[in-house]
Order: sequence, then C-alpha cells, then structure tokens
Amino acid sequence: MRVHSIKTAAAIMLLCLLVAVPAWADTAKILSAVDEAGTSCRDVSRKIWEWKEPGQKEFKSAGLLKEELRKLGYQVSGDLTVPADLVPGGVAKTAFRAEMKGKGPGPTVTVMLEYDALANGHACGHNLIATSGLLAAAGLAKVMKDTPGRVLVIGTPDEERGSLGGGKVALLEGGHFEGSDVVFITHPADRWSLDQRLLAMKRSLFTFRGKSAHAAAAPHKGVNALRGVLLTFNCVDSLREHLRQDIRIHGIVTKGGERVNVVPAEAQAEFATRALDTAAMEDAYGKVVNCARAAELGTAAQLEFKEPRVSLKSPIIVAPLITSLREQMKTLGVGDGQLKDFDELASSDLGVVGYAYPTANLWFKIAPEGTALHSDALREAASSDEGWKATVTAGKAVALSAYEMLTSPEKLKDVQSTFKEMKAKEGK
Ligand SMILES: [Zn+2]
Repeated sequence: MRVHSIKTAAAIMLLCLLVAVPAWADTAKILSAVDEAGTSCRDVSRKIWEWKEPGQKEFKSAGLLKEELRKLGYQVSGDLTVPADLVPGGVAKTAFRAEMKGKGPGPTVTVMLEYDALANGHACGHNLIATSGLLAAAGLAKVMKDTPGRVLVIGTPDEERGSLGGGKVALLEGGHFEGSDVVFITHPADRWSLDQRLLAMKRSLFTFRGKSAHAAAAPHKGVNALRGVLLTFNCVDSLREHLRQDIRIHGIVTKGGERVNVVPAEAQAEFATRALDTAAMEDAYGKVVNCARAAELGTAAQLEFKEPRVSLKSPIIVAPLITSLREQMKTLGVGDGQLKDFDELASSDLGVVGYAYPTANLWFKIAPEGTALHSDALREAASSDEGWKATVTAGKAVALSAYEMLTSPEKLKDVQSTFKEMKAKEGK
C-alpha cells in the first residue's frame, strides 16, 4: 500500500513537471531573449536620449523604434488616424502600432512606449520607457509562435503635453487600443514602485463679460467682469470645507482688467480640478462650474464657458495585475521591501488608458530617492549604467507578467473582473 502510494505520488510529481516544463522553458527563453536584445536596445536608448525630440516631433525616435520592432518580426504601422481636432490633419505621425500574432486565438497584451522629451532633454526618462518596452517586446517575440493570443506594442507620443490630448487620448479615441485585454507600461523614477495612483483632471476656462465705465465718474453705468472672477474664487473656496481630502482645485486669473480707472469689461480665470478617481473629479468639477454660474447670477457679468475637449482620467487600480508584476519582480531580485509608494501625485494621459483597460505601470529606480522627475539629475540617470540595469529588469518583469496574462486564463479573468468591479465603485 505504502509502496503504491509512493509510486502514485511520484507519478503525479512527474506529471506536474511535464505540465510545468513548457512554462519554465518559455520563461527562460523570454529572459535570455531580453538579455540578447540588451546591447542593441541600449544603443536605441542612447540615441533617443541624444535626439531629445519634443512631443509630436519624435520622428527619429519613432522611426528607430519601428525599425527595431520590424527586425523582431512585428507587423508595424505608423501614421495612425486620430481625431483631427486633437492632432492637426488627423494623423498621429509619431505614433505607431506593432503587432505579433501568436499560435491561434487568445488574449491581447499591449505594451506602451513613450519617447518624447522635455526642454531640458530626457529629464523624465522616456527613452527608458521606450526601451524597456522594446526589451519586453523582444522577450515575448521569442515565445509567441507557441503562445496563444497576440502582442500589441503601441508607440504613444507627446505624453508631456498630454492634457492637450495629442498623445494617448487621441490614440484611444482613434481606436488603436481596441482588443487590448491588458496594458503595460513602465516609468523610471527615484524608486521601485507599483503605486498606480494618478489624479484625474479637468480644466475649465471661465470668461466673464461686463460693461466698461469710468470707475470713479460713472461706476453705476458699468458691470464689473472681474467681480465674476472674484466671486467664482470665493465660491470655490467655500466648497473646500466639504471636499474629499484628495480633491485639488487650483485656479489663476488670466485676465483681470486693463486700467484701474476703468470698470473691467472682460475678465477670465482658469481652474484645474483633480481627484484620485474620475467620478469624484467630475463631481467636484461640476461644483466648480456651478460656482462660476452663481457668480454670473450674482454680478450680472455674462459667463462664457465651454466644456473642455479633453480631460484626464485616473487609472482603475487592478490588484491582481499589480500582484502579477510584484511576483515577477521578486523572481528578478526586486522584493516587496524595495517597493515604495509616492507621497506626491500628479496627472498623466496614462490615466485615460488605465480607465478604459486594465493597465499596470511599473516604476523602476534609476536615481537616488528624492531625485525629482523632470530634473537635470534624472536626465543624467536616464543615460547611466545603473539606470540601464533597472530598465532591463523592468523590461523582463513586463514580459513575464504579459506572458502570464497570455497563458493563464484564470489570472486574466481575475484581472478583468476586478477592473469592472473597481470601476463600478468609483466616487463612493
Ligand atoms: Zn514621464
């Protein structure tokens, strides 16, 4: 009996090994393919860093990335069609889409690349976002002929001016993410982090029109447009007492009159409203607009206001997707103890993708803690050896997690149901 059960156990173990071997083998294949691509990707990273092309002008960077993806066997298309009111001409010339089909039908994993620079060069390290994604694409390319589904690589330009809608907002509206089951991106920083929080944001521009008059001789003949602006600010400030802690409303006066002895006939203020989730942001935004309307009523200065064309959403936080990345990072030597959330939060056009599809962003450490994004120090780190090592690790983690989503239907199902559930909970 005992002998028999040992035999059974051994048989089960052998069976488990046989079943598990392909996955192990593929993991090893992915990792070695990433390592093999390391030298050429580092060269790509250096070139993009040196070219430092700003948003909508990343022609050389996008061209080089497309060429590298073609060499890996991806079907690449550029000149993506997008709404003409977001990108002049309706063509995103520095965006691209690369696709690799696997063995038969299955899920679609999407990896986003960014490559736009700032006035002080690649001080946000987007050259490393591009190349960590390229490394992941190289790793996945090695196993797709035996893996169901497909890999999409989307080149998303113009992130830094994302609030204008030229980057991911335009590509999303153009339908270029369609079919994605899960989306990955990375970002260099002063730490390793899986903190997904970004603030949703909507801007509002209020113009008040009154009637000018001599401010001393005949003020009773005028309507003071500046009063409309001032009352809007006061009203917004009285709202703050009852707003959720994460909600930020900040405004500036863009026009406030020309001369002190003339009642201002035109005044204007711009506000930005932000919150940790999109529904709460929309709610607060509606209250800000009501403040301007109240100011119109109260001052008789006419309000001119138009809903903004573009707003930024905040990503839905999908715990099982974060867990997948966390587990892969552990196997690559980045343990939980090295992960650290951010104290300060901002907005990005990444949020619109993370609101539409289950998305994960992996922050990887290229500089000492406290190094600010957009600083010259971060720019230097984005071309350093240390920075490159972390980029390779990030590329590997994305490739492995993407592979897990392609090959584990239960995990992908968990990711998608969590995404839906969390989206329904917004604003509550
Ligand atoms: Zn950035």
